[in-house]
Amino acid sequence: MNKSMSSLINVWIQPGPDDIGHSIDEFLSRLKQPTIIQLAGLDASRTRVISTLLHGNEPSGLHAVFNWLKSGKQPAVNTVFFIGAVAAALEHPRFFYRHLPSERDLNRCFKEPFEDYPGLVAKSFLDFLKEEQPECLIDIHNTSGSGPAFAVSICNDLAHQALVSHFVDRLIVTNLRLGSLMELSEQDVPTITVECGGTQDEQAHLLAIESVDRFLLLDDVFQYPATDRELEILYNPVRVELKPDVTIAYNIAPVEGVDITLPLNIEHLNFGVVDTDIQLGWLGERGIDCFQVVSHEGKDISQELLRVEGNQLFPKQPVKAFMITTNPIIAKSDCLFYAVTCQG
Ligand SMILES: [Zn+2]
Repeated sequence: MNKSMSSLINVWIQPGPDDIGHSIDEFLSRLKQPTIIQLAGLDASRTRVISTLLHGNEPSGLHAVFNWLKSGKQPAVNTVFFIGAVAAALEHPRFFYRHLPSERDLNRCFKEPFEDYPGLVAKSFLDFLKEEQPECLIDIHNTSGSGPAFAVSICNDLAHQALVSHFVDRLIVTNLRLGSLMELSEQDVPTITVECGGTQDEQAHLLAIESVDRFLLLDDVFQYPATDRELEILYNPVRVELKPDVTIAYNIAPVEGVDITLPLNIEHLNFGVVDTDIQLGWLGERGIDCFQVVSHEGKDISQELLRVEGNQLFPKQPVKAFMITTNPIIAKSDCLFYAVTCQG
């Protein structure tokens, strides 16, 4: 490590292929805390930022960084890698915790108040970005369940679409504001989140490795790549959340005494149209009251989105669901899935 930007973030300038260890595990061990890695580009007048591991259990982006550093290639423009939740990733068992149980989720901390540890890390990184004025930022994540890759952005202009097209062919445009890093688009730094696929999917690591490799060699990333793939764009998803005291199970049949049971293979519904006759799971006595689905106007729309027949849960209108999780901890602490109504 070369120096510390503050006591919170290490800065590592131009590490060579031999400095980062032989494996992703050795690389992680050498980081110890949130780290900024700076590389000189062929064009030193511009900078791009790739952010990874804001969630400690989402390793695809770190694989991409490791792979790039091992290659010893020089990027087209100055490049900054930010590796966020290092402590959470290091906590035993490695790459298990999204964030340390005693701390807030780092990717909800990029807005005031910046008082606690992850808040201060987020603030230090935002200060760095303000100084650096990068031309774009790509924040690489994994979904907790398996599913196709996609990107998320708060903007849907051509610049953001072009950035997305270097990584995936599906874009979710959201007006939700949660304090995530992609909200930097509001400060004139085109920023996208790339969800590469499930945390355990080899395919997700490959997507991150290959697309970062291509991306960093391009001179102009705001130009559409030559491909006939069309970008599918979905607007304004809502978060289908569970109320705090709700109990959840994943099983092939309803579990007695539990508020909601979901089938083990529920993630197969990711990004397909879920019609009103497709069963999502089973509900206990509380019925739809388990859910909290807040519209963009701040209204609870659970009853408009979901219906129950006997103990069976169905969508009330056709939806596209994504980021469906089969991890009960994330289902409770974050959300069960995101939904977009098919009427738009
Ligand atoms: Zn994430």
